[in-house]
Amino acid sequence: MRLELMGPPGAGKGTQARRLSGARGVPHISTGDMFREHVRKATPLGRKAQAYLDRGELIPDSVVADMVAQRLAAEDCQAGYLLDGFPRTPEQVRALDAILARHGWQRSAVLLLEVPEAEVVARIASRRVCAGCGAVGRAPRAGTAPDPCTACGGRLEQRADDREEVVRERLKVYREETAPLLAIYRQRQLLVEIDGVGTEAEVFGRLQSALDRVAA
Ligand code: AMP
Repeated sequence: MRLELMGPPGAGKGTQARRLSGARGVPHISTGDMFREHVRKATPLGRKAQAYLDRGELIPDSVVADMVAQRLAAEDCQAGYLLDGFPRTPEQVRALDAILARHGWQRSAVLLLEVPEAEVVARIASRRVCAGCGAVGRAPRAGTAPDPCTACGGRLEQRADDREEVVRERLKVYREETAPLLAIYRQRQLLVEIDGVGTEAEVFGRLQSALDRVAA
């Protein structure tokens, strides 16, 4: 399946994409994870991306599109993929259209995780990410020691761009630049809206049922 997962920051895209990728046997391609990896390794792209990430701004379309084009050309993407966090602008939709046309591929569906803004703000405030494996955890309750990552035992940290002032900018960018994509995909009859409020397992169940309907 050739899938895109959309939703505001903090909607649970990364967590659900990891599970869906395992369940459906397609690689999880998170442009945010790719940029964070470049920053961590201090590659030339990472040095360029750092300032954008720190401010919660989008990296220029051509840079992101080239990175995704290269990733989708890899062997493991030939039978399908799950894109998480791309496309994020109308220009990126056009870039992806061109990549798909080159490969002779069609989108299977675009999944939208819907979570009200007040809830994503609260979720991001308590979100912690494992420094070792990237799994998502929660901040410790006041006065308690932080728990290690349940997946690998690594240290849970707050993402630099999960600080409140950066989150406000990321939400504004989502509203202004990414939300208009929903109309484009709705018009193409690709958009599948999923209620993203509930436990991780509940939301995962909804995504799986939606994908079963797409595949049927
Ligand atoms: P994410 O982990 O998806 O929230 O992405 C974290 C940050 O990476 C974003 O705030 C952007 O600075 C950058 N980024 C990730 N994906 C994209 C994209 N498709 N276009 C532009 N910037 C992106």
